[in-house]
Amino acid sequence: MKRKGKKRLIFFTDIDGSLMNRGDYSWEPARPALNRLQELNIPLVICTSRTRMEVTAIQEEMGITGPIIVENGGGIFFPEGYVTLPVGSVIISGGLRCILLGKPYGRVRSFMDEAKGGFSVRGFGDMSVGEVSELTGLPPDKAALAQAREFTELFVLENEDELPDLELLARSRGFFITRGGRFFHCMGMGSDKGVAVARVQEIFARNWNRGALTVGFGDSPNDFPLLKAVNIPILIPQEDGTFEELDLPGLIRAPHPGSRGWNEAALQVVASKHR
Ligand SMILES: [Mg+2]
Repeated sequence: MKRKGKKRLIFFTDIDGSLMNRGDYSWEPARPALNRLQELNIPLVICTSRTRMEVTAIQEEMGITGPIIVENGGGIFFPEGYVTLPVGSVIISGGLRCILLGKPYGRVRSFMDEAKGGFSVRGFGDMSVGEVSELTGLPPDKAALAQAREFTELFVLENEDELPDLELLARSRGFFITRGGRFFHCMGMGSDKGVAVARVQEIFARNWNRGALTVGFGDSPNDFPLLKAVNIPILIPQEDGTFEELDLPGLIRAPHPGSRGWNEAALQVVASKHR
């Protein structure tokens, strides 16, 4: 039986440009809010276009645990023993339990190979570690983790005028294209951050036997499905202080870009909503 009015908080967050600064990849300014969430046992679900290997490395650095939504909602990974998951939906992968929502990377790559015939696309799978390192500003060891993709492809499009036609081709093949902060993303139709957030929320609510009050953080258009899927959406500004165009009921606009804005907005929500 659900207890009325006793909803528990769950935080969902994008990484780049939200929890972590876009320019210097720093997240230290978010430390106070991260500590507060841990003290109060509020789950923090990372929800990013990054790969499983990148996110688990980041969690380790931050000293946090919890479920992760990777590659724009292509897959959800739960640590072993974290919650009870619906029977039949789970694959064990890398010591984590995975709910697959996207398409396997091999199929996305086949589509990218087809697209290369008519479009100026260049994906992570076409690039050397050195190139990915240069484009992202990540050191080579971290660039290699970014290339360990399982569900989606990141790519650059030299001539962005081609985008509408490329989107049409993608749709006809069961894929779609979305824009992240630095790259375009190609992924299987029907999976996005919002679908994954809804699935995780449902799993928590079932495990807790009470409702969840969800908070979401994002800065880019690929975060819009995440922000639409949560009860309290928080939009983080770009480095220059401007916001992506988004109009949602109750949308909170963070006071600063990156981890500093994340920290302030997160602490404020916890102070006003934690029960
Ligand atoms: Mg972002």
